[in-house]
Amino acid sequence: VATPIGNFSDMTYRAVETLKMVDDIYCEDTRITGLLLSHFDIHTKMHSYHIHNEQELTSKIIEKIKDGKNIAVVSDAGMPGISDPGFLIAKKAIEENVDVCVIPGVSASLTALVGSGIPSNTFTFIGFLNSKDSKRKEELENLKHKTETLILYEAPHRIKETLEMLNDIMPNRYIVLARELTKKYEEYLRGTPKEILDVVNELKGEMVIIISGCS
Ligand code: SAM
Repeated sequence: VATPIGNFSDMTYRAVETLKMVDDIYCEDTRITGLLLSHFDIHTKMHSYHIHNEQELTSKIIEKIKDGKNIAVVSDAGMPGISDPGFLIAKKAIEENVDVCVIPGVSASLTALVGSGIPSNTFTFIGFLNSKDSKRKEELENLKHKTETLILYEAPHRIKETLEMLNDIMPNRYIVLARELTKKYEEYLRGTPKEILDVVNELKGEMVIIISGCS
């Protein structure tokens, strides 16, 4: 079940109905999902399901479903399975002939892509680059000649380094940094990596980088 990326009003009716109706909700952080549930007056029991226990819990969840339970999986924000837990349980459920039903909703990737004004007819979702500088540089070098639009997720404490690398590797590329989407301080910064670097020092919050393709 998809959940909002910052603005609770983006929760869909179907997501609320589903989370009320299922027997259990598996979520990354019970404190974060707890806030959402209390906002929508949902009283379903929550259990932790995150990258550290995902391997071990997935089979148990599938067994519960086989025993007749309805289980929802949510992540902290956005679409599960998109740079978040969700892929493994969908894969395993399909392998075991257990029904998977996605309750769709917002994802930061597509929200940023559409708001960027950069061509969205063909794009590649990269997600997070490697956290090691040398590996991240190598990944960007490998992406340099891609002609389609690229979508990157980046943590706020690494944004400056990533923009510096983009400035070295793709200095003339038009990029858009989409920040705090759906929230009060939502903002799109547009220009070359250098132009965005000039203002990035003060930037906080969650960010997506959209990079126009190599022409
Ligand atoms: N599953 C989520 C989705 O569907 O978008 C993504 C989860 S991933 C762990 C978190 C990253 O998504 C953040 O580091 C940031 O790059 C991006 N993100 C999430 N919420 C955002 C927001 N409100 N504005 C901009 N980027 C956001």
